[in-house]
Amino acid sequence: MKVIMLGAPGAGKGTQAKRIASEYGIPHISTGDIFRANIKENTPLGMEAKSYMDKGQLVPDELTVRILLDRVAKDDCKNGYVLDGYPRTIPQAEVLDEAVAKFNEKIDYAINVDVPDENIINRMSGRRACVKCGATYHVKYMPPVKENVCDACGSELIIRDDDKPETVKNRLSVYHEQTAPLIEYYRNKGILKEVDGTKDIDVVFEDIKNILK
Ligand code: AMP
Repeated sequence: MKVIMLGAPGAGKGTQAKRIASEYGIPHISTGDIFRANIKENTPLGMEAKSYMDKGQLVPDELTVRILLDRVAKDDCKNGYVLDGYPRTIPQAEVLDEAVAKFNEKIDYAINVDVPDENIINRMSGRRACVKCGATYHVKYMPPVKENVCDACGSELIIRDDDKPETVKNRLSVYHEQTAPLIEYYRNKGILKEVDGTKDIDVVFEDIKNILK
């Protein structure tokens, strides 16, 4: 099963993508996570990606597409995957379509986690991420057991540079200009499914499971 998660930054698509991955035994692929891992290791790719990410801009398609195609070619993707944060532009979606079509396969579902902008800004201000393992939390909606400490690895939680208020505003306008058109793109292909992302995390996941059944 191949699933794409659509939605504004902070809509909760990462949280849901991880749940889908563990429920259906398929890898969770986040281009944002791949970039962040490269930044942490100071790779040339990481340095280039960081210059865009810190401003809330998209990493250029050429670079992003290469990273994604390498990742989905790996063995663990044979039975499918859930993509979180890719595609973010129409050309990225077209490259993915071509890549899966080469193997006579297709994307099964594009799930749009719908959340209005006002809620997004509110949510992003409470978002925290682990400095070490990248796990994400929310001070109100998904707090760690111990304040500012990662449940998964015990490291400190911080506000990611790209979650800072100015950057969030940029990311939202980039989302509306470049990524939101993908909703129509997948609607036209007949695989778009929509869920109300303002509901409780568990309820959203139930809605998603009903779609993937
Ligand atoms: P995310 O963790 O998915 O919110 O991504 C964080 C940042 O990484 C984004 O704001 C972009 O700068 C960059 N990024 C992640 N995925 C992509 C993509 N598919 N295309 C372009 N930039 C991306």
